[in-house]
Amino acid sequence: MVGTGLAVHKAKRLQALPPYLFVELDRARRKLQADGHDVIDLGVGDPDLPTPRPVIERLSQAAQDPANHRYSFTEGLAALREAIARWYARRFNVTLDPATEILPLLGSKEGIAHLPWAIVNPGDAVLVPDPCYPPYRSGTILAEGEVIPMPLRADMEFLPDLGDISQRAAQRAKLMFLNYPNNPTAAVASESFFQEAIELANSYAMLIAHDAAYSELAFDGYRPMSFLQVPGAKEIGIEFHSISKTFQMTGWRAGWVCGNATAIAALNQLKTHLDSGIFQPVQYAAIAALEMDDQPLREVCGIYQQRRDAVVVGLAQAGWIMPKPNATFYLWAPVPGGELSMAFARRVLEQAHVVITPGSGFGPNGEGFVRFSLTVPIERLQEAVARLTKVL
Ligand SMILES: *Cc1c(COP(=O)(O)O)cnc(C)c1O
Repeated sequence: MVGTGLAVHKAKRLQALPPYLFVELDRARRKLQADGHDVIDLGVGDPDLPTPRPVIERLSQAAQDPANHRYSFTEGLAALREAIARWYARRFNVTLDPATEILPLLGSKEGIAHLPWAIVNPGDAVLVPDPCYPPYRSGTILAEGEVIPMPLRADMEFLPDLGDISQRAAQRAKLMFLNYPNNPTAAVASESFFQEAIELANSYAMLIAHDAAYSELAFDGYRPMSFLQVPGAKEIGIEFHSISKTFQMTGWRAGWVCGNATAIAALNQLKTHLDSGIFQPVQYAAIAALEMDDQPLREVCGIYQQRRDAVVVGLAQAGWIMPKPNATFYLWAPVPGGELSMAFARRVLEQAHVVITPGSGFGPNGEGFVRFSLTVPIERLQEAVARLTKVL
């Protein structure tokens, strides 16, 4: 039976992954667009603003040099690791050893999804926020770990109730994912919350992986802290970071993880078998981004803040009240009128031609909410508000 393709089967581990909930919504969106309708997409968290000019110029320049055309190394250029260390010192007053405490990644998603392979044995538990950025859950499942959800609820300001984790779950857990400023809830965390998490991790010998992808996108003077600023964090924790959201560089694929040297060595060991590093011109461009002054970033935050206000104030006038977040480019809004989030998102797409993400796609505890991504120009957001006002 050579050549029939009948012998090809998908591995069971793929079946264990959560289904992609948005297939149906995506299909409906594409159909509307193919029929010539003007759809406003507030679904994906992908910045519309351009990458800063000096970063693009550094890439173009580095791409001319044949020395940059060859394999790079998994551990990245020393110059990049040093630039990351300087940025952490300047921004957070956190000292990192560029040789052992920083590992560049092909985007932080790559490192996040691979981390459980380096830390978790089959059957070990992993504490995962619910709702959450999907790779925490899927990375755990692929490594045959058991996901133990930590509900994020509005009455707890979308922080997990650490006192609610059973002793048995804590004993079995090798890893806990946290993410503040948070996707999808746009919530932020205080130092006392991080302290509490560190105490728990110390009592039960688990690693904390904090995802700080949105640490630089904050408003009204608020400055998110790094998890690594908290005393004791580096002994049991690592922090993921990315140039994607900070510098409008989602397509470039560069991020890093920093903190605990043992965890970083484990992930580095795994990654030597998986990839051969980041294209060097992208590494030089990332250095240029990290060395820029803060002015462009302040402007970008100002733009997101105006967009946030346009939607929150505009929809409040239509009777839809939602919190005004301090950080991220998301709004996490309670579904008006008690519809399920998927039904509501489908209705909004069909009647207003606006894409929003149903909260249930981020985990069962996301039900009752929808996420708006503020990654379109303000005129489009105003148009979206006008259309939503009619269908509410
Ligand atoms: C966008 C995002 C990232 C960044 O992913 P990259 O792979 O670095 O582009 C990481 N974590 C969260 C929560 C995100 O929303």
